[in-house]
Amino acid sequence: MATCPRCLGHLTDGHRCPRRRSLVAAEIIACAIGGGLLAWLTLIGFDPHGQVTDMDAISFIAGALVAVGINRALRS
Ligand SMILES: [Zn+2]
Repeated sequence: MATCPRCLGHLTDGHRCPRRRSLVAAEIIACAIGGGLLAWLTLIGFDPHGQVTDMDAISFIAGALVAVGINRALRS
């Protein structure tokens, strides 16, 4: 059976190379940071005077989790 020149897997009909783990991890991290920043900036937009300072980390983490969740849902 032929082997794929890129991933060395069996080259069957409809073969698709598995995505590299490091790439997937990098994408998840980038997505988490992007989502976290977006949520944090949104919080700042709603709270320009920083009255809910305790929410910074929470909003960042929540945004990151949501972004990763959406990313995983779209990819699978
Ligand atoms: Zn392949």
